[in-house]
Amino acid sequence: MAPTQLSDTFRHKGLRQKLIDLIVSKGISDKNVLDAMNIVPRHFFFDSSFLEFAYEDKAFPIGSGQTISQPYTVAFQTELLKVEKGMRVLEVGTGSGYQASVLAEMGAKVYTIERQKLLYDNLKSLNPALSYRIRLFYGDGYAGLPAYAPFDRILITAAAPFIPEALVKQLKTGGIFVAPIGKNDIQIMTRIVKLSETEITTETHGAFRFVPMLADKAKDE
Ligand code: SAH
Repeated sequence: MAPTQLSDTFRHKGLRQKLIDLIVSKGISDKNVLDAMNIVPRHFFFDSSFLEFAYEDKAFPIGSGQTISQPYTVAFQTELLKVEKGMRVLEVGTGSGYQASVLAEMGAKVYTIERQKLLYDNLKSLNPALSYRIRLFYGDGYAGLPAYAPFDRILITAAAPFIPEALVKQLKTGGIFVAPIGKNDIQIMTRIVKLSETEITTETHGAFRFVPMLADKAKDE
């Protein structure tokens, strides 16, 4: 990413406010989520040639066959997660680093795992997410980060075919886990609350479409 891109002009801020207004009209009301998304410059996570797409409410390709999630979807998942300042949050599927940055802007201590080496390497070098103290890991999201557990919140931003047991284990009692679950084109947004070591409650929150969560730990790609 060229450094010249990293300026946040009045024009960008105006476009961002319009995007936030649109997200509000679609039903998002959590002020902490909206404020954070109004601060994080989504265009920093785009190649300069695609800047004009950054403030549309659409997913967009970020390379390696992956996408930066649609802003509404980021807002929806983040709202379900009920993040509070100081919480330890694990994200599976770092992608562009945008969602992780929104969580960090909300005051969370963010741990995020990416399975694709190329995306991870890009994040390690130039990524604007680095202006936040986000802890980046290259690895398999199904396994989570047992060494850093437990987490107050866990978020998967790829389509998970099932609820990974290892991740539920790494959630604190009282913790919240949000993930789009489904094996086909469409997934059901699912929120789990861990009531005790052996009990969870599960709620569903409508249909979404994510890129699939990849099964095996990455070889160097
Ligand atoms: N949260 C991202 C968008 C995620 S797209 C953003 O804000 O831009 C889904 C991401 O999950 C992709 O980058 C993909 O490579 C990653 N992914 C897929 N399977 C994974 C796995 N098993 N573990 C960790 N990351 C995975």
